[in-house]
Amino acid sequence: MRITVYDGATTIGGNKIYLEEEGKGIFLDFGMNFARHRLYYDEFLRERSSRGIYDAIQLGMIPRLNVYRKDLIPSDLDVSGFPKPDVFAVLLSHAHLDHCGCIGYLDAEIPIAATATTLAILKAMRDTSKPGPGMEVPYFSKRVPADDSRVLEASRSAKDPYCCRRFYCTEEMDERLRQFFCESHRSKKIEPPECGKIDELGIPFGIEACELDHSVYGACGFLIQGDTTVAYTGDFRVHGRSAEKTERFLRKARDASVLVIEGTKAGDEGSVSEREVFVNCLKAVENARGLVIADFSPRNFERLEMFGEIARRTGRELAVTAKDAYMLKALECADGIDRMKDCRVYFELKAQRDAWENQVLELYSEKRVDPAEIRKNSECFILCFSYYDMKHLLDIRPESGTYIYSSSEAHSEEQDFDFLRLNSWLRLFSFEIRGFRIDQNGLHFERGYHASGHASSEDLRRAIETADPDVIIPVHTEKAEWFLEQFGERVKTVSDGGSVEI
Ligand SMILES: [Zn+2]
Repeated sequence: MRITVYDGATTIGGNKIYLEEEGKGIFLDFGMNFARHRLYYDEFLRERSSRGIYDAIQLGMIPRLNVYRKDLIPSDLDVSGFPKPDVFAVLLSHAHLDHCGCIGYLDAEIPIAATATTLAILKAMRDTSKPGPGMEVPYFSKRVPADDSRVLEASRSAKDPYCCRRFYCTEEMDERLRQFFCESHRSKKIEPPECGKIDELGIPFGIEACELDHSVYGACGFLIQGDTTVAYTGDFRVHGRSAEKTERFLRKARDASVLVIEGTKAGDEGSVSEREVFVNCLKAVENARGLVIADFSPRNFERLEMFGEIARRTGRELAVTAKDAYMLKALECADGIDRMKDCRVYFELKAQRDAWENQVLELYSEKRVDPAEIRKNSECFILCFSYYDMKHLLDIRPESGTYIYSSSEAHSEEQDFDFLRLNSWLRLFSFEIRGFRIDQNGLHFERGYHASGHASSEDLRRAIETADPDVIIPVHTEKAEWFLEQFGERVKTVSDGGSVEI
């Protein structure tokens, strides 16, 4: 077996790992490399979707392979000379963009296999945003050459339905999820996608998916059995609510001789647990006067549920955004759990709503909460808002409150500026801030209000000891040398594009 790490070998995310045996293979994730993306792009300098895969190929955002959607290849790009591997599927570990954000470029004949929850999140993400081609994962508008054939445009005709990718689920797929895949909120219809169970895929390997503890629901690791067995962790941790799932995966991984393991936190000792975050946030809400705002990453549903529990214990109600509500509804299609039961939905004041927003509005009309209601009863709510929602505070005009920053630390100077602006908004409404602070020396993060989605060094060490592989391939890390220091010759480090023959 040959394992080629096309991307994500030495950066945190962007995993595009290819497993190949006798000319047949599968990708493990096909994500966006945000480290590389940040080198060239920002919020306003962005990829040109009218050039299909051209920009992504030129900038090395995707490997030079002949595996991409035909409709995304403009006339001035010749891919015929690129290697053409026989790709059976993408096994997707979880619905974070650094793992799935380039799948949309891949030939539509290449199906995705993932957990039901991951597939539901992908569909909901696509429904609620207008992404570039790389992120058009579950369905897309076929592009056609414009008069100048170097330029590609989406067909606008409502008669042309969206094209769909095939989905294969790691478990039995609920009928509701199948229906959700066919639902379109736009003028174009979605052709019902072919979907089934992963065993029906005909992949030339034995595949076993095991759910893992990570900061998004539905994350899984894979055991891939060919002439040798490989375990792939995706992203994982053991300090969240589903820690025992990770342990189970690692015990199964004992059957594997090769462990492809993420190392985001390699070299970092100690981690805050979800339990500690719960205790600290509960205390902050108990001591809060006025409105509480909880800020956590989009799609961190475990944190959202944690704030739901805190709301229950403190006699408040959790108000989520329309997008959160749509996502929670999508999760219900995958696992049958009604997470909207005790939530209210905040509807921002806007002139025109997308069709998916109107669906949420209709579905949850009784749960709707207006800015004036929050102003009047601000001590009765925990509002799930983040940086980009700050403008809506002008409608609520809270007199005071507590803001809990329960998300990851800033990593770039640009993000530091976002915190300066966030701080201005919060000062304008006399909020007390937990989780970060800005003083004359700059921006500081307060420990204990956020738990990472990744295993600490100590947990990585234990994970490797449990799985006990012959060969360790670190990916998704800037500290591959840490693995070498800890595990010596068993570690095979690769650079992007590098291969290991097993
Ligand atoms: Zn990741």
